[in-house]
Amino acid sequence: MGCTAEDLVTAIRAAADTVADHRVELIQLDRVIGDGDHGENLARGFTAVLAALEQSTPDSPSAVLKTVASTLISKVGGAAGPLYGTAFLRASAAVKDKAELGPADVLAALTAALGGVVARGKAEPGDKTMVDALDPAVKAAAAGESVAEVLALAADAAEKGADATVPLVARKGRASYLGERSADHMDPGARSTSLLLRAFAEVAAR
Ligand code: ADP
Ligand code: MG
Repeated sequence: MGCTAEDLVTAIRAAADTVADHRVELIQLDRVIGDGDHGENLARGFTAVLAALEQSTPDSPSAVLKTVASTLISKVGGAAGPLYGTAFLRASAAVKDKAELGPADVLAALTAALGGVVARGKAEPGDKTMVDALDPAVKAAAAGESVAEVLALAADAAEKGADATVPLVARKGRASYLGERSADHMDPGARSTSLLLRAFAEVAAR
């Protein structure tokens, strides 16, 4: 069974709930190696996304992703807004004209999202950014044979990837200003990426 526009709206709502539930955690992670706004930025962004999805009910998965992208780009400041915005925009373009997304489409969307983040932020794996969650997620997702499996594999790998950012020294973003002192802390963007993917995976598993 594929993922329709309606299913995707359900997944985005779940992602917004997760971001709200983990707002303080993300603020605290960002306070240690950044400026403490990551949880607030994302919570505000996803609240605006929910409002935008209420206003106009997008009629294709691609249109849902595009609404998410444009809302995040316009409402979320900092590094993460444009990065997540670009990710959703590229994902939207990757599934253009599809009424329902199958596993290959979801994989294509995740791959495009990673491509967008890398094109925009120029981070490589190991730089202690959201790429450290998204890159292993995309690699693991390729083995999935259903939408639920693709997303479960992605979420599992993203969680491991986020955990693996703890010992790293940041080479991109605000945390890189701390140099060696950025080590021993989880990257907030890698954590939020793992949370978003877990929310999508849980909806797909229903
Ligand atoms: P800011 O750093 O501007 O305050 P946020 O706090 O919202 O923005 O987001 C910080 C997160 O953004 C970091 O934890 C990291 O995961 C991600 N990030 C920052 N710069 C980059 C980059 N160049 N490429 C990928 N991700 C990045
Ligand atoms: Mg910040």
